[in-house]
Amino acid sequence: MDPDFDFIIVGAGSTGTSISYYLRRYGKRVLLIDAKGIATGNTARSSALIRTHYSNELIAAMGKYSFDAISNFDSIGFSGLHQPGMFFPFPEKYKEVARENVEMLRKLGIREEERSVTDIVKQFPGISLDGYDYVVYEPLSGYADPVAVSNSYAESSRDSGVVQMVGREVKRIESEKGSVRLLLGDGSTITGRKVILATNVWTNRLLEWSGVSGGKLLPITASLHTVLYLKRPPVLQGEKPILWDPPNLAYYKPEGLTLFALGSLDPEIDKRPVNIDEILPETADNDYTVDYVGRLINRIPGMGEATVVSSITGLYDMTPDGQAIISSLDYLGFEGVYVCAGLSGHGFKLSPAYGLITSEMVTDVEPEKSTFDWRNFSPDRFRNGKMLTSRYSEIGTIY
Ligand SMILES: Cc1cc2nc3c(=O)[nH]c(=O)nc-3n(C[C@H](O)[C@H](O)[C@H](O)COP(=O)(O)OP(=O)(O)OC[C@H]3O[C@@H](n4cnc5c(N)ncnc54)[C@H](O)[C@@H]3O)c2cc1C
Repeated sequence: MDPDFDFIIVGAGSTGTSISYYLRRYGKRVLLIDAKGIATGNTARSSALIRTHYSNELIAAMGKYSFDAISNFDSIGFSGLHQPGMFFPFPEKYKEVARENVEMLRKLGIREEERSVTDIVKQFPGISLDGYDYVVYEPLSGYADPVAVSNSYAESSRDSGVVQMVGREVKRIESEKGSVRLLLGDGSTITGRKVILATNVWTNRLLEWSGVSGGKLLPITASLHTVLYLKRPPVLQGEKPILWDPPNLAYYKPEGLTLFALGSLDPEIDKRPVNIDEILPETADNDYTVDYVGRLINRIPGMGEATVVSSITGLYDMTPDGQAIISSLDYLGFEGVYVCAGLSGHGFKLSPAYGLITSEMVTDVEPEKSTFDWRNFSPDRFRNGKMLTSRYSEIGTIY
């Protein structure tokens, strides 16, 4: 029997909606399905930083592609892009590695400015950059609205004929010859020629429900990240740049003109996976708050006068090298099933590239002719030692 759809995308966060947007142009029958709704998963909890300062050339090129897409989003919808700029400070011992990276990024057409610490203190009075020697500034970096981006992708796809089903959970995947059958929570089934899992931390759970177990599951774990929101004292209000602060393993993002969002860059958090079937904390605990506010005060002493106004938590779908798995799951016995997950806490800014790569993979574009070769994202890399590396791993960050 002819399957109901050519492509079924499971998961309607920033990844699944972007894939639906890129697939809509193939003019096939596409279904986007989600257990809850559009952008109700980790996308809704994202700090949504948009930057191109990566230290792996492939990921940086994807960052540039995605940045350009989000900067030119008007024909698709609303991105909420705001560009206060972003600082990346480095101590003397990492100056050379940072300089080499800046050269690599410039060759990709990415705008990077080298700044002195004195310049930065002029641009951001009240900041303490003791111990730093060299600062890279990305004037175009900023943040966007991930819920608006996902809804825009979804709406634009719907206008082009993509069918959407929300509030419908996929409980089991079964591959047959030439068709994939999805069993839904209400007992109904739908079939597709190809199915793409954009199911973030829930990917292995769906695979387990479908009979995969143990070492055959994907190397994706869930880690719990907390973002604190602080009201700035009047002297620190107004337009401020974003600050990436690896020595304090934190980042500080101006949220509008009066708040700062404070998030973690600590890889230790990702080494403590959480069980997604348990009820997880929705807000920060006291120890975390005291610890991270202390880090912020270290860098911006005037924030000692700030007030914590709220906090949220969300999950990172971590892989061993902090990069996505984009692959066919044929090797698990799921012919016609593909995955784009394991985005490791930085997947929003790359969502246009994930949409493009996944759509090229499932429409059988030859890897050599594709925009970004998806074979780099195969889970084979964890077995054959070809993990995606970061020039900055010695600084303590995977990015
Ligand atoms: C606290 C935090 C801060 C972050 N900060 C940044 C940042 O600054 N910059 C950045 O680029 N990225 C950031 N990220 C990461 C980024 O937000 C995510 O990588 C990205 O949004 C994930 O999108 P997704 O579509 O893959 O997953 P999700 O948004 O989680 O969507 C997955 C969807 O799959 C659905 N689903 C799962 N299982 C099933 C099933 N069986 N049947 C049907 N539907 C199913 C879920 O309901 C969900 O809607 C952050 C993430 C967090 C948590």
